[in-house]
This record gives sequence, C-alpha cells and structure tokens, in this order.
Amino acid sequence: MPPEVDGAREGEPTHVEDRGSFSHAVCHVCGWTGPGRRARQGSRRDAAKHLDERHSGAATDDGRRDDRG
Ligand SMILES: [Zn+2]
Repeated sequence: MPPEVDGAREGEPTHVEDRGSFSHAVCHVCGWTGPGRRARQGSRRDAAKHLDERHSGAATDDGRRDDRG
C-alpha cells in the first residue's frame, strides 16, 4: 500500500512541487524531476509529457521484461 501524500490526486502519479519561485514536476513512479518552471501549468505539461514518454498509457505493471542483452 503506497503512503498517502498530501495534495496528491487519485490517478495522478505525478505532482508539482514548489521550490522557491519555481515549480517542478515530480514523478512518484520513477523519481523523475522536471525542469524548473515559473508556472505550474508548465510543470504539469512536463509531467504529462513524462508520463506519456516513460509510462505511456495505463499504469499496467505485468512484470514484463526483456531478457536480451
Ligand atoms: Zn516517471
């Protein structure tokens, strides 16, 4: 059971964190942190893009692995 994070929304593996006057998108899944943005909207976009690129589609974890290499 994952720990409850204050302010986290259901179905959103990412959230936006404020650091100083900049906000960063943070991914709970892989620990990725986005670049500093002056607008939260920008961070949200970064998060959405990250999810699409790294965790594309639904968060299905079927234990699929490639044993190549
Ligand atoms: Zn991630």
